Amino acid sequence: MSRTQRLDLADATLRAWEAVVLASDTERGVVLDRSAFYPGGGGQPPDHGVLLWGGVQTRVVGARKADGDEWLVPDESDPLPAVGTVVRGAVEDVRRTGLMRTHSALHLLSGVVFRDFGALVTGGNMEPLEARMDFDLPELPADFKERVAAACAVEVAADRAIEVYELPRERAFEIPDIIRTATNLLPAGLEVVRIVDIRGLDVQADGGTHVSSTRQVGRIEIVKVENKGKGFRRLRVRLSDF
Ligand SMILES: [Zn+2]
Repeated sequence: MSRTQRLDLADATLRAWEAVVLASDTERGVVLDRSAFYPGGGGQPPDHGVLLWGGVQTRVVGARKADGDEWLVPDESDPLPAVGTVVRGAVEDVRRTGLMRTHSALHLLSGVVFRDFGALVTGGNMEPLEARMDFDLPELPADFKERVAAACAVEVAADRAIEVYELPRERAFEIPDIIRTATNLLPAGLEVVRIVDIRGLDVQADGGTHVSSTRQVGRIEIVKVENKGKGFRRLRVRLSDF
């Protein structure tokens, strides 16, 4: 069980906070008592940022899990704060906000492709403002790319609310979307499921960070639809501002 209170789960807009160092070593990195750094997972890569303490800056360039804790990985050339040090943590905003937009775009995309083409997601990956998502779609309509792009544009313009809340496990599994996306992914012992809900479009069990409405995603460009064989379609997307 991680000792770190995850501030990012409650507030995806938080970028700076105070924390105390609970563990620190050159092998694993730094553990904080409270952290808004997204540690990675569900296809969303970890945040970057800094820890500021006593006039020193420790750059955070990644995260790793070890011994039940979430460790922040510092830049090799930076000094480490000792256990007990009070630090100011700050998440790099451009990268995180880009990832929040991109992660939300993938939920929007999977909602659109399921609704309009009945296809399920089989995989995905994202970097800030760029991503790919894989679908199981045996028959590909001729104008698939254009139809997906048009439907995404409509859903962005509709400015649907993106809400995050928790449900007891049994309630979560009454939602059809959750059953189709998450039944086999959630650990058996999980009592409470965190839900990311694009109102009226897509509901998923999800631990990532998201923007609060679809308009904040920005413009979604479908760059390419690749055929990887046997109904395996890979969509590459890129985000830009309006
Ligand atoms: Zn997600």
